[in-house]
Amino acid sequence: MRAVRHTAWKTFPTIEDIDRPEPGPGEVLLKVAGAGACHSDVALFQDYEAGQVPFLEPPYTLGHESSGWVEAVGPGVTGFEKGDAYLIYGPIGCKHCRSCSRGQDTYCENVAEVGYMAAGLGRDGGMAEYITVPATNLVPLGDADPVDAAPLADAGLTPYHAIRLSLPVLAGGGRSALVIGLGGLGLITVQILRAITGAAVYVTDMKPEAVAKAEEYGAIGIPAGDDQADRIRELTGGRGVDAVFDNVGVTPTMQLAQRVVAQQGRITIVGIAGGSVDWNFYTNPYEAVITNTYWGTIEDLYDVVELYKAGQIVPEIERFTMDQALDAYQRLVDGTISGRAVVMPNS
Ligand SMILES: [Zn+2]
Ligand SMILES: [Zn+2]
Repeated sequence: MRAVRHTAWKTFPTIEDIDRPEPGPGEVLLKVAGAGACHSDVALFQDYEAGQVPFLEPPYTLGHESSGWVEAVGPGVTGFEKGDAYLIYGPIGCKHCRSCSRGQDTYCENVAEVGYMAAGLGRDGGMAEYITVPATNLVPLGDADPVDAAPLADAGLTPYHAIRLSLPVLAGGGRSALVIGLGGLGLITVQILRAITGAAVYVTDMKPEAVAKAEEYGAIGIPAGDDQADRIRELTGGRGVDAVFDNVGVTPTMQLAQRVVAQQGRITIVGIAGGSVDWNFYTNPYEAVITNTYWGTIEDLYDVVELYKAGQIVPEIERFTMDQALDAYQRLVDGTISGRAVVMPNS
């Protein structure tokens, strides 16, 4: 079968012919419907080098946000019908530590023994005709379109988890949020905030067309420029915003977050660009928290699928065949993809 492979550090992916995997004990073999191409893949194959990120040693098949139809089950697995559509929860931990036991494989305490982080991150992912994953990593999609759904496994789950942890500061009257960076993940951040909170949602992005798109979902665009922080303070009556979601994570976006957060607010750095800000007693408003977050839990993913089925999340996707998979990554490198690129290995 054909698969998009991360073969070596600082090397663009290639399409290779590899053996179709067999489902092991507790695993399900899925025929892949869709696999999203994520910006973090680009960082991995383009920027990182050996030893920089443990548990992600190439070679492996890319695709950490995927969906598929059940093809076969491994020993000990029951309750699945061939042809039923599922969204794949990508993180795969040891399944028995404290973190895995609450459905948060992302923070598995035994990752060193597991040896990889997720399907598509160290272990073979969904950019192939078939994939095997533990049966416990599957969220049923029912009649919902699995191709449109694929990016939700990361671009939906990551913002949902960050927003859920910020709900205490977003609940109440007159609350507001700021979303920085409106790629595939940012536009879904806006939709989730609008669906599950009553907060005013401010957005900013270098691309005016991305801001316009977010405004269609009910966000309030803040034009780029040096006075952004002042504008946001003004719009919030001087208070600042209760929650900031920085999907970029470079120093200037983190500085903007720090300048506009309200007292007792919460800044979540979601983007992995590696920026930094100073912190001392006087740099942040009182009790304002700055934190990071990584992906989400499988329980969160069930919630994301419910929002998707209800039409409250509409992923912006562009579809690619397997023959076009490397073009999808090249366009991601070039920055010419709006929304999310989804590869359909079996179409
Ligand atoms: Zn990703
Ligand atoms: Zn674990």
